[in-house]
Amino acid sequence: MDLYDQHSGKLFIISGPSGAGKGTICKGLLEDCDPDRMSLSISMTTRQPRKGEIDGESYYFATKEKFQATIEEDGFLEHAEVYGNCYGTPKAKVLEKLQQGIDVVLEIDIQGALNVKNAYPNGIFIFILPPSMAELRKRITGRGTDSREAINMRLSQTLKEISYIDKYDYVVVNGELSEAVDRVKAIVTAEHSRVSKNIYKLIDKYKEEI
Ligand code: 5GP
Repeated sequence: MDLYDQHSGKLFIISGPSGAGKGTICKGLLEDCDPDRMSLSISMTTRQPRKGEIDGESYYFATKEKFQATIEEDGFLEHAEVYGNCYGTPKAKVLEKLQQGIDVVLEIDIQGALNVKNAYPNGIFIFILPPSMAELRKRITGRGTDSREAINMRLSQTLKEISYIDKYDYVVVNGELSEAVDRVKAIVTAEHSRVSKNIYKLIDKYKEEI
């Protein structure tokens, strides 16, 4: 079945630099959402779980061997190395949900998003921007996990990543979180209001009703 035929859900790719707040926005988006209408894809990663993270909820935590085996069996929609760890989107689950007519949200880095774009150009690509580089520095510093050198490296990486913004369909600046979540929700609503091939079915139904 074609991924983008009329029965499919929509694939939303929420991406942007590390520290822009993609994860928090996705949480806000999915919070009061019916799971039969929209679902967040859970990635596989080789990084160690952080405090409070649960296997199968935050990520599927895997060994490098398991990750490599999944690549070899073509089990990922996309995968990328981000700051020394591997991350991948399990393909079968995403396709299954889309085929059931459920929207799927991917929260992934920019390399991953560009790979998805090559394979599935009909996805809806949303770039999350921090309100400023100064604010991004503050957020990354606030995590308390990175050295000054690592922070500077991340910021120059961010500038490179932002140069890919023209490959995206939408941009949302994450200054005020609730406003950013509302904007992403508005994008979802707008995408569901697009005129598609389905419109002929609706017109036929109207004709029958005369
Ligand atoms: P973290 O380790 O902080 O949870 O995530 C690090 C980065 O990896 C974030 O930018 C996050 O969006 C990205 N990421 C998480 N899952 C995936 C995935 O499946 N594929 C790709 N390409 N990036 C991912």
